[in-house]
Order: sequence, then C-alpha cells, then structure tokens
Amino acid sequence: MKALTAAALIVAAHVAGLALFPARGMAVSYVFFFSVAALAMGSVVHAWHRSGPPRDRRWWLLLASLALWVIGMSLSARQNYALDNSNPAPGDSMFFYILYVLPVLVAVSSAPVAARKHWAMGIDLILAALLGVLFYVRTFSIVSLEGAMGPQQAIDVAYMLDFENACLAVAASLRFLATDRSDDHAFFRSVMFFFVSYAFAGYFYNHYVALGGHPDFGTSPWDALLDVPFLALFVAIAVRLPQRHWHPPVYLVRFVQSASPTFLAMSVLGFGLMVIPGYPSLGIAGAIAAVIGIGLRGTLAQVDLVEEEYRLSRSREELQGLVFVDALTGLANRRALDERLLREWHRPGQREPIGLLMIDVDYFKEYNDRYGHLAGDDCLRALAETLTARGLRPSDFIARFGGEEFAVVAPGTRLEEALALADDLRAHVEAQAIIHPMSPFGVLTITIGVAASQPSANSGPLDLLNAADRALYRAKHAGRNRAGGPVEPRNESSRA
Ligand code: GH3
Ligand code: MG
Ligand code: MG
Repeated sequence: MKALTAAALIVAAHVAGLALFPARGMAVSYVFFFSVAALAMGSVVHAWHRSGPPRDRRWWLLLASLALWVIGMSLSARQNYALDNSNPAPGDSMFFYILYVLPVLVAVSSAPVAARKHWAMGIDLILAALLGVLFYVRTFSIVSLEGAMGPQQAIDVAYMLDFENACLAVAASLRFLATDRSDDHAFFRSVMFFFVSYAFAGYFYNHYVALGGHPDFGTSPWDALLDVPFLALFVAIAVRLPQRHWHPPVYLVRFVQSASPTFLAMSVLGFGLMVIPGYPSLGIAGAIAAVIGIGLRGTLAQVDLVEEEYRLSRSREELQGLVFVDALTGLANRRALDERLLREWHRPGQREPIGLLMIDVDYFKEYNDRYGHLAGDDCLRALAETLTARGLRPSDFIARFGGEEFAVVAPGTRLEEALALADDLRAHVEAQAIIHPMSPFGVLTITIGVAASQPSANSGPLDLLNAADRALYRAKHAGRNRAGGPVEPRNESSRA
C-alpha cells in the first residue's frame, strides 16, 4: 500500500512540477523520467537479491532492458540539449527504445525446463543478435539520425513501438498466466506489470500527446503518464501478493511453456519480413534463421524428451526389479515367489507336477543369540549362496520366503525327485560345516518340507504351499536336519 501511495505521489509531483515550472518543463520531465527508471532498476536488483538461492538471473535481463531504455532517454536528452534538435523521434534514441525489449524478450522466450542449456542459449543469442540488427535496419529505414522526416514517418515509428510493446505485453501475460512455479510467477508478474502499462501509456502518449500537438517533453502534464510503467514495476516488486489461488489448466501451462522458446524466433521472422522490401537479403536471412532456430529448438527439446523418457523407463525397470528382490540375500523375495508359483500353476498345457520345497534353518534363534544378529545375517547370505549353487535346474526357482525360511519351486518335478533334491540341499548345507555350538548337530543345518502336486481345477498354489508347510512342521518334529514329504511318502528315488 505504501508503495502504491509513493507511486501516486511521484506522478502527482511530476504533474505539479510541470504546472509550477512551465518554462523548465522539459528538464522537470527528464528528471522524473530518469528518477523513476532508477527506482525501477533498484527494485529489479532488490527482486534479484530476494529471488535466491539460487538467484534468478532473469532479473538481470530485465535490468539490461531498463538500462537500454535509459540510454535511449539519454540520447534523446543529448539531442534536445547538446545538439539542439527538437525532432521527437531522433534515430539513435528510437533505436534504443526499440532495442530495449530484446533482453526481456530473451527472458520471456526462455524454456522453463531448458536441458541442453548451452545449445539453447547459443541459438537464443544468435537470434537475439540478429533481431538487434533487424531493429537497427528497420528503425533507420523509417527515421534518420536527426529524426522523422515527416508526420508519416513519426506515425510509422509510433506503430512500430506499439507493436513491439503489445507483443511483449501479451507474451509476458501468457507466461504469467501459464506458470506453475513461484519464481516464474514473481518474475513474469513484474514483467507483465511493466509491459502492459508501457503498452497502454506508450500508445496513448505517442498517438495523442506527442503526435497530438506536444512533440516536446515538458509541454503537457501527460508526460507523467510515461512514469507509470516504471512505477508499476516498482509496485509489482514491492507488493508481494500471496500466492494466487487460481491455477491454470495444466495443459495450458505446458502449452505456453513449450511454445515460449518460439517467441524470439517469431520476432525475428516478423522483423525479417518487415525489412524485406528495403533489404531483401537481410530480411530473407532473418526469416531463414528464424525457421532454423525454431526447428533446432524443437529438435533439441525432442532429443531431451526422448532421453528423459529412456532414463525414466530404465529407472522404472530397475525399481520394478527391486520390488521382487530380497535386500539381504539378493534372492527373489516372497512376492516374486507368489507370482512365479501362480504363473507355473496356470501355465497353459501344464501336465507335470510342481514340486515345492520349504526350507527352514534349524535353531537359528540360538545362532543369533550366540553370535548376534549381524552374524546371523551373514549366515543367511552364505546359506543363500550355498542353496543357489547346488543342483538347481535353470527352471527351478529359489526365493527367500521370509525370516530364516527359503522356498524352491521346481516345475516338472515329481515328489520323489523333489525329496531327492531336498535331501541333496540339506546334505550340502550340513557339509558346509558352519559352526553352530548351540545346535545338537554342532553345525548349521536345515529342515525341508516337501510337497508336489499336479495343477488342477479344484486346487491352487496355496494348497501346495500349505502341504509343504505341513511337511516342514512334521520334519521339524521328527528331529530336524532332514527332508520330509507328506505323511505317507511313496518310495524315494533319485532325482532325474
Ligand atoms: P527351529 O529349529 O524350530 O526353526 O528354531 P528357530 O530358532 O530357527 O526358529 P524360530 O522361528 O523360533 O526363530 C527364527 C529366528 O530367525 C528368529 C529370528 O531372530 C531369526 N531371524 C529371522 N529373520 C532374520 C534375519 O533377517 N536376520 C537374522 N539375523 N535373523 C533372523
Ligand atoms: Mg522359522
Ligand atoms: Mg528355524
């Protein structure tokens, strides 16, 4: 509120100064113009300071624009005072009034997600430099260094300024409306405040004041109107509105953000076409550069997208892999086991029985108690390696079932074969001779419950799991360090 009052007081002081010192009106207006520009530049530096960390370097582009405007105004003062030229549109200051939009145009064209920044920045710089040349040529094709030759040229210059300011006002407003980030919000709000008010104030001033009988500064109280854009920028930066509650549609945000890199190229194209009548080669070169610029920018963005998509899909695959892996042993986990069992069970044309081994470490609680949990973990890892290395066929599937329990799914395996496999695994673990003083066996041993069944319509994988679990329970009770099948196993034979 204070900033708004201060801005209103400055405008009132400007009008009052013109009324009080009509003879020195021009000096009064210049003093106010330079003062409000300095105030706006100070605000921009303040906004940059406030924007971090990391600080938003786009504010420097806005500062550069204001500095170019001040150079334009200084050249105008030089024409008035040093060269005694009262033409209101001298070429040099007109050129800077046109050039001043360039840095902000680069900021407005910046892509929010600019991967390959160096490439994109290189293209932008080339286009910006070209646009500067086109501005120069276009300005001096209308006016000379001394100024407009006649009323028509003065009107042409005014229209050119209107066009440029209106384009930036629209571009900045679009970027402001279609933003979903707070730094974009703060920056484009300020740029929009400045250029929208500049477009209106400039249009009114140029057409109805300067071209309406008051070509010199200081001869009309409407001079104070030119303070407004700078004060609007000052107010926009000083008054920090709370985050807006209205959110633009996501599609609009993405569309404007993706289209913004073309603003700069479109300006080059527009000005290139404008200078074609007077300077065909330059105009055509500008138009071609604009098209190449747009194409390259689009291609680079596409390359980034493809790369990003590839990266995402790889990390998605990695994550999916992790979901099915047991972190301690690196074996498949319970979830993977369930999936595998279900898949085997419902495999089309499945005619063979599926064998299932439930493996449980004997007296493992005592092992932990004796050696500690970390040693227990090491032991589980070693056990996983031993089990994996031993006699499993490529189609067999081993998983950590949970705790100190493991399971093996053996498709195409009859009960006798499964029992043989189980006994082989058991014997192999025992042969590792991992010392376990708290066990009656003196070494680490496992007990295995075995089941096998033919998938059928009236049973499911859970039945097989339950059968193996019951077999394990019985084997434990029978004394541990053994493999046991269902209650009445058929004759054992060795595994094929
Ligand atoms: P049993 O012969 O009857 O199987 O006796 P047990 O001690 O092995 O059986 P119980 O189920 O009573 O204990 C299992 C122990 O396994 C308890 C727990 O401390 C240990 N355990 C389970 N998961 C882990 C693990 O990830 N790391 C370690 N170090 N120990 C585990
Ligand atoms: Mg257990
Ligand atoms: Mg156990």
